[in-house]
Amino acid sequence: MMRYADGMDCIFCKIIAGTIPSKKVYEDGQIYAFADIDPKAPVHILLVPKKHIPSLAVTDPADAQLLGQLQLAAGKIADEQQLSGGYRTVINTGLDGGQTVFHLHLHLLGGRQMHWPPG
Ligand code: AMP
Ligand code: ZN
Repeated sequence: MMRYADGMDCIFCKIIAGTIPSKKVYEDGQIYAFADIDPKAPVHILLVPKKHIPSLAVTDPADAQLLGQLQLAAGKIADEQQLSGGYRTVINTGLDGGQTVFHLHLHLLGGRQMHWPPG
């Protein structure tokens, strides 16, 4: 995780900066959202804070507003994507959590029936 501490080597920081292309879905002052390159559902969008935070495990109370905004933006995008039947938001955290990109991101998945428990 420390390798990515400054974001210089971070794929999502490069996507936010525009040096790696992405299919943008939403953007505001704090958040950038784009289509997942390997979608696991008909709608699969990643919401990332523009600030480089490696994972949920290293957030603190100062990030409360940002974390709330991520969830609220996911709900707004779900409405725009017409996911009226429902959807799922996921934050994979750490290796056991299945996190592969160490820039905090929230998955928005929808457009099909989700299963429980997830794998
Ligand atoms: P996670 O496994 O929770 O860390 O999720 C990382 C996600 O980033 C995976 O769903 C990947 O498909 C996705 N991803 C990796 N590289 C890119 C990229 N260049 N553009 C869009 N999504 C990506
Ligand atoms: Zn980053």
